[in-house]
Amino acid sequence: MIELKNIRKAYTTEYTKLEVLKGIDMNIEHGEFLSIMGSSGSGKSTLLNIIGILDDYDSGDYRFDGELIKGLSQRQAAQYRNRLIGFVFQSFNLLSFKTALENVALPLYYQKVDRRKRQTVAMEYLDMVGLKDWAHHLPNQMSGGQQQRVAIARALISQPKVILADEPTGALDTNTSYEVMKIFREINQQGITIIVVTHEHDIANMTKRIIHLKDGLIDGSTSVATASAGS
Ligand code: ADP
Ligand code: MG
Repeated sequence: MIELKNIRKAYTTEYTKLEVLKGIDMNIEHGEFLSIMGSSGSGKSTLLNIIGILDDYDSGDYRFDGELIKGLSQRQAAQYRNRLIGFVFQSFNLLSFKTALENVALPLYYQKVDRRKRQTVAMEYLDMVGLKDWAHHLPNQMSGGQQQRVAIARALISQPKVILADEPTGALDTNTSYEVMKIFREINQQGITIIVVTHEHDIANMTKRIIHLKDGLIDGSTSVATASAGS
């Protein structure tokens, strides 16, 4: 599904050039549940933003289901993103003045789905993440874990092919982190590909495959034993 070949990316300022990705090769299949793991500053977010078509790369090839994702206009990039990708961030990124239900329904609003239908579908997705009873609460009336589950429901509602999560448990305590990872596993069992970026070993160990990123290069990939991924 996702094929990266020799992807390079540098950030340049007037005086310096920082090479962040130095030739990344990666293949991700449909239905995978994997993590990209590396220390802070190793280029994880840069890589995820390229995969998410939020950012361009300098050289190499990125293909999504065989289609070359390269040098797209803003408009084309947005079209691919809306059709293919759901995002989950460390800071949840919910609209604070909208209820859980309204936050989840938002992508459908942009797709011009009518209000009644939006609300019905959003309620189904809230139910999927165990938050049906919280539909009319505002984000600040919910715990961090609950807010992240709202964000996951919002990412799922446009039926993306892949969910990209950048440090989704970074703002959560250990138990809540595991609950969020459990929801990802359930979603993955429904066939949706999930890529989680993390610097935490225990979080990476809850996915099925770990790709290690080090100094801008892939430093191996490990399969996680099912016992561990399933616990
Ligand atoms: P990670 O997510 O693994 O912590 P990042 O991909 O965010 O790493 O960053 C990798 C390196 O690139 C860091 O040294 C960071 O400071 C630098 N960097 C990230 N984004 C930018 C940017 N927009 N401009 C300049 N440097 C950046
Ligand atoms: Mg990061």
